[in-house]
Amino acid sequence: MTKFLDLRDQYARIRADVDAAITSVLDSATFVGGAPVKAFESAFAAYQGARHCVAVGNGTDAIEIAIEALELPPGSEIIVPANSFIATSEAVSRSGHRVVFCDCDAATYTLDPDDLARRITDRTAAVIAVHLYGQPCDMDAILAQTGPRGIRVIEDCAQAHGAEYHGRRVGAIGDVGAFSFYPGKNLGAYGDGGALVTNDDGIAQRARMIANHGRLAKYDHAFEGRNSRLDTLQAAILLAKLPHLDEWTERRIAVADAYDEALAGAKAIVRPARARGVRHVYHLYVIRTSRREDLRAALAARGIETGVHYPVALPKLQAYASHPQNAEQFRAGKYDGEVLSLPMGDHLTAADARAVAAAVREIVGE
Ligand SMILES: *Cc1c(COP(=O)(O)O)cnc(C)c1O
Repeated sequence: MTKFLDLRDQYARIRADVDAAITSVLDSATFVGGAPVKAFESAFAAYQGARHCVAVGNGTDAIEIAIEALELPPGSEIIVPANSFIATSEAVSRSGHRVVFCDCDAATYTLDPDDLARRITDRTAAVIAVHLYGQPCDMDAILAQTGPRGIRVIEDCAQAHGAEYHGRRVGAIGDVGAFSFYPGKNLGAYGDGGALVTNDDGIAQRARMIANHGRLAKYDHAFEGRNSRLDTLQAAILLAKLPHLDEWTERRIAVADAYDEALAGAKAIVRPARARGVRHVYHLYVIRTSRREDLRAALAARGIETGVHYPVALPKLQAYASHPQNAEQFRAGKYDGEVLSLPMGDHLTAADARAVAAAVREIVGE
């Protein structure tokens, strides 16, 4: 049996640290705010190389609050990739703006800078660069287009904790970065959690106020905000897990290296490309094949779990049935029928990956 992800295995390895963190929160009886939240914000800002971190309730809120904190004109166009989780585009609509879909690069599956150039209009106020599957977008190419036009850049880092672009950690390369600590992410809480990071003092302060009913002090509300908090238990758990993240990421990279090597030359399979100058943190290892459903079923029959991220490109979803780009042909709209995510996580070894790759090759007849 090869699990797609195994959070029980991970917990067994860090049980003493996590249990102690939980017990100390229970003993303090402080369940919202408090020292663990502040400590986690400082530790995570330092980890991502950003000046500020504002912890929030989940990754979707983080994107929404990031957009709101930029104070864009209402009804602005915000460009998002056609291949992401719906949270990315949802945050745009929910904050009163217009979703404009952009295609992905054929090799890396991150935002295609050439297509981005075609999507920019006078009404474009922001771009959400999703570091999909853990691989940073081509930020230089994106910033070259957004910078001169005053277009803001939000990084969706939900899959990219610790990822690096040309030596810099993602999150504060653009204006503001949004992270998710959903349990299955590379750094996962034991419940929901999220955070924003930024080097901009104004964005950080506005985000903190939006997430806390428009206030900084107890009943001093400057505007209507909302309630989006990382609870104290989750902060304490994340603080206990953060010191392990680099080791876990190195394991993911070793698993990806083993997949790359063992799948090389298999013509029925397209392996994921690694861009130059990046630290890809492999939230997912996604191959493409025209025989996805057969391969998936045959792997399942051998006890190998796989996933599909994502089975329907965003513009084609029912949720966007009345969106102007619903019927547009995107590269992402073809890939959605071909992508297959192989098991990936710190529960695996290079030998496990070689065994999965051997099964894949055998099934596709290579
Ligand atoms: C998981 C994810 C989100 C949303 O995070 P939640 O914490 O589940 O709200 C946003 N964008 C991407 C790309 C994701 O993978």
